[in-house]
Amino acid sequence: MRRLIVHGGAGRITPEHGEEALRGLRSALDAGWGEIDDATEAAVAAVRWMEDSGKFNCGRGAVLNLRGRAELDAALVTGRGEAGAVSNLTWTPRAIAVARKVMEETPHVLLCGRGVDRFAKAMGFPKERIGTSARRKLYLELRRDLEKGKGDRGRWSDGRPSRHPAWWTPLRKLVREHPELLHGTVGAVALDAKGRLAAATSTGGIFLKMEGRVSDSSLVGCGTYAGTDLGISATGIGEVIIRHMLTRSIAERYRLRHEGVQAAAERTIAQMPDDSVGIVALDRKGRFAVARNTSNIAWGSRSEGTSSVRCGLE
Ligand code: ASP
Repeated sequence: MRRLIVHGGAGRITPEHGEEALRGLRSALDAGWGEIDDATEAAVAAVRWMEDSGKFNCGRGAVLNLRGRAELDAALVTGRGEAGAVSNLTWTPRAIAVARKVMEETPHVLLCGRGVDRFAKAMGFPKERIGTSARRKLYLELRRDLEKGKGDRGRWSDGRPSRHPAWWTPLRKLVREHPELLHGTVGAVALDAKGRLAAATSTGGIFLKMEGRVSDSSLVGCGTYAGTDLGISATGIGEVIIRHMLTRSIAERYRLRHEGVQAAAERTIAQMPDDSVGIVALDRKGRFAVARNTSNIAWGSRSEGTSSVRCGLE
């Protein structure tokens, strides 16, 4: 059984953005399916297509941080126990390809900051400016709105009050007014004919995030996970996903309770704060799950056999 499942982020997805996301996901499925003989190649190809498209919050289309720069995070994990990840990459939009290089060419799992930029350069990735003109325009507008809200008592992303004179309260308000801000992270999970699984996730993080903020997407067991039996890619508020080690928690539930991948995902997500996360998952038998507690998640799946491409805004 060969299968590929992809997502283009969770949140409140407007019909207009939804249509664009589904078109992108169909192309990403085609790109990944061309490599489906090897699960790792397939997951990477699907994510790379979305990074290159500039339509999602990753790669060329990444959102900008508080200082107006894109910092990219990504991870690739295989069911054979291999993992490579990057965080705060600014050198190139090809975050998933650099994560793969970390996995294959270094003894490490995660490189970040200046080190990852130097590594990307050493691996021959050309330097490229990240961030579309639309993202920059939106950045300037949002930054202005955010500054007007300064002075509010801060709250962290899951609603806990913070002593930090934070920007989370105004940022949450902005997110309510601009639902398109909180989606567009991408991920893919692939299963090949040899029963191998691989999961990949790539993101620009959250618009106006603090410089140096690390996303769940680059953390194994949080936003991205694969074992011999199951692969998962998550999306949503990274701080929630990290605190709950979401993908690993779903995998443990799946293993311990034998309740199936969809039930394991839904019951784990039911314990998270409302409107915070979504996942796609795929097990070794080719059964997949799409679960969320946000308004929507954009997803698509392709498997062997006839007319088996399905895309949806759950
Ligand atoms: N999980 C990503 C992050 O927090 C954002 C997203 O999935 O939309 O960086």
